[in-house]
Amino acid sequence: MRVVITGVAGVGKSTVLDIVKNKTSYEIINFGTLMFEMAKAVDLVKDRDELRRLPVDTQINLQKKASAAIGKMENVVVDTHMTIKTPNGYMPGLPEWVLRELKVSAFYLIEADPELIQKRRNSDPSRKRDEDTVADIIEHQQINRSFAAAYSIYTAATIKFIENVEGKPDIAAQNIVKRLMQ
Ligand code: AMP
Ligand code: MG
Repeated sequence: MRVVITGVAGVGKSTVLDIVKNKTSYEIINFGTLMFEMAKAVDLVKDRDELRRLPVDTQINLQKKASAAIGKMENVVVDTHMTIKTPNGYMPGLPEWVLRELKVSAFYLIEADPELIQKRRNSDPSRKRDEDTVADIIEHQQINRSFAAAYSIYTAATIKFIENVEGKPDIAAQNIVKRLMQ
C-alpha cells in the first residue's frame, strides 16, 4: 500500500513522520528529496528550495521521474505536497500521471494554525521559506484540500485532515500509524 502525507512548509510534517517511522515497517520516501537529487546531479539546483522556482516544465520532468521511481516501491509513505507554490501559481503535486504511478490508498493532510506555521517558518534558518502572510498560508491550506478532493476522484483514496497540535505531534502520527497497521 502507498499512502501520501502532505502539509505546507512549517506545518511540522517532518516531526510527525519521524514518529511514524519508528512505529511501522513502512519506508518514508520524501518526494522532494528524490527530485532534488535528480536535479542536483545535473547541476540544475544547489538547494531544495530552488526546485519550485525552476521552469514549470523542468519541475514536471523531475516530478515524472521521481514518481516513476516511487511507483516501483511497495509499502511506502510518500512525504510530498498537494500543491507547490511556484512563481507562476499553484502546481499540482500529484497530477494524473503521478497518481497513476503511485496508486495511492490514502491521503493525509497535516494542517496547523496558520499563525503557528508562520512562526515556525520564521524560526527555521535551514530553509529558504517563502515570505507568506497568514492570509497566504490560509489560502494554501485551503487550496490543498481542494486538490486532495480532485485527486481522490481518480484514485478512490480516502482523505483525512489531521491537525498537528503544538507539542503533540504523536497524536497526528498515531492517526497515520493506525491505518498502516490495518
Ligand atoms: P519538501 O522538503 O517536502 O518541502 O520538498 C522540497 C521541494 O520538492 C518542494 O518545495 C517542491 O519544490 C518539490 N516537491 C516535493 N514534492 C513534489 C511533487 N509531488 N511535485 C513537484 N514538486 C515536488
Ligand atoms: Mg519537510
